[in-house]
Amino acid sequence: MSPAIRVVLLGAPASGKGTQGRKIAQALGVPKISTGDMLRAARDAGSELGRKADGIMSAGQLVPDALVINLVDERLREPDATGGCVLDGFPRTVAQADSLEELLRKRDERVDVALHLEVERGLLMERAILRRTDVRTGQIYHMKYNPPPAGAEVEHRADDREEAVSKRLDAYDAMTAALVPHYQNRGVLRVVDGVGSPVEVSARIETVFEELGRAIRLG
Ligand code: AMP
Repeated sequence: MSPAIRVVLLGAPASGKGTQGRKIAQALGVPKISTGDMLRAARDAGSELGRKADGIMSAGQLVPDALVINLVDERLREPDATGGCVLDGFPRTVAQADSLEELLRKRDERVDVALHLEVERGLLMERAILRRTDVRTGQIYHMKYNPPPAGAEVEHRADDREEAVSKRLDAYDAMTAALVPHYQNRGVLRVVDGVGSPVEVSARIETVFEELGRAIRLG
């Protein structure tokens, strides 16, 4: 069996973390853990956490650190995460990164690679506004470059509308961009140009994993 590997995906909203994260997780045989997906599931289930997070998410703001840290702590204890994971959308603040480090340290584990998908703001805006998600499969589409097939039931996330996207990008610049130097200081940062088709970006990610000695095919 391959050694466990824990990957953090860094990148602004709509930089491709969800799309690439799914493929990376599948290729490594580990779960993709997305705090955004978990919060949306909690909201759809109408749980107390979901009710707390709902308004914050629609406004494009960050949910309090303690709530997401708790979610991730519980999720990482599940058996399928013992061989590693791909974290998508977590950590989003330095405080979350510190908590993650602490959680993992207690289990003698660590973040092995922080993959930063770099995309400029104008393009992120367009991607989010044109992004649609298949409500059944979670597959992500782009109305211009990768439209959904006829008959697919897709939704446009409320927080992918222009005003909320702008706020989410501001939150990224204010809170999350600091994670890039944070992981650079720990020697685990790898930067990937996130501009191009999903297949082009996947090829760049394959090169990174090859250099890390964990060659994967992202198909
Ligand atoms: P995402 O699907 O990762 O873009 O997340 C959607 C929304 O969920 C974000 O805009 C935040 O409101 C909330 N969220 C997801 N992950 C986090 C996190 N790690 N910290 C705080 N808020 C989060």
